[in-house]
Amino acid sequence: MLQDKTPAQTPLSRLGEFGLIHHLTEKFPLRRKETRTGIGDDAAVLDMREGMSLWSTDMLVEGVHFDPAYTPYKHLGYKAVIVNLSDIYAMNAEPTHITVSIAASSRYSVEILEEIYAGIRLACELYEVDLVGGDTTTTPRGLQISIGVMGKAKAEDIVYRSGAHVNDLLVVTGDLAAAYLGLQVLEREKRVVEVNPGAEPDLTPYAYLVERQLKPEARRDIIRLFKELKLKPTSMIDISDGLSSEILHLCKASGMGCYLYEEKIPLDPQVINTLEEFDLEHTTIALSSGEDYELLFTISQKDYDKIKGNPNFTVIGHMADAGEGAHLITRAGQKVELIARGWNSFE
Ligand code: ADP
Ligand code: MG
Repeated sequence: MLQDKTPAQTPLSRLGEFGLIHHLTEKFPLRRKETRTGIGDDAAVLDMREGMSLWSTDMLVEGVHFDPAYTPYKHLGYKAVIVNLSDIYAMNAEPTHITVSIAASSRYSVEILEEIYAGIRLACELYEVDLVGGDTTTTPRGLQISIGVMGKAKAEDIVYRSGAHVNDLLVVTGDLAAAYLGLQVLEREKRVVEVNPGAEPDLTPYAYLVERQLKPEARRDIIRLFKELKLKPTSMIDISDGLSSEILHLCKASGMGCYLYEEKIPLDPQVINTLEEFDLEHTTIALSSGEDYELLFTISQKDYDKIKGNPNFTVIGHMADAGEGAHLITRAGQKVELIARGWNSFE
């Protein structure tokens, strides 16, 4: 679980900035027809003939978004790309290109950056995006990775947060809260290893949770499925900061209220067992835990047949008039106001 004690530790200064950039990026093939020039000039040149370009960026900061004590660096690179791709899929679009900007302190070696780039490369390969640029610099402390992503879509296919209507169904993909519990498990094992350095924690019972935390995937499959089903959601967002906060984003952007049904929120059995083991309250965690990278969207009721019975989708509620507010209906039938309890960087 913990980092390998990498024997070779080449200081970053050995290669110099340009040597390092070349070393890290030379093994990235360019796959996309849009790419004219990738890394190596002052700017990448892309031929985006059709449709709209979409842009997004996300930053990962050591000590805030990841802890090197239990985050394998290859996974870190992979996850840094995935969280960005997820934002493009959340617009019902296809990511095509990324840039990677990295600030590393002298505590980081060439070997560690190689690992991070191995993860970035794997994500580029699996999701078919080209790495076409970035920036490399130092920082007095820790490590920061900022990834920019570009995507494309036909104008009429793009799904915004703002398109939901009254009575639209509120739908979520996959299941929730596993990544958060994975983090709780890793934090607990870190404390065990701190007191007892020889300990070899057995994470097998938590495999799904730890995988969801360390190696999340973005829901490209769902975007493809929408095309097959000829289904265009009326609004959509990815779940990075917690279900309640994302639902409220859709409500606010669409000028809607909503009803969310507690009993419908999809949780994996491993999540339920671990919630019990940690003595955590199911719904609070399901509403507030982040980093699931599932998609939350609304569809018109007339499209219900297109998703009915499909195990990828769970209808968890419906939209309502703004005047009705946003509410959770508990298992006991109580109506509770929905408040944002998710991750917020400034709290
Ligand atoms: P400039 O000084 O003109 O900004 P750089 O020397 O920083 O150029 O970068 C040279 C090339 O390498 C550019 O194409 C840039 O986008 C790319 N690049 C720099 N750092 C990275 C990185 N960490 N990952 C990927 N590409 C990078
Ligand atoms: Mg530069």
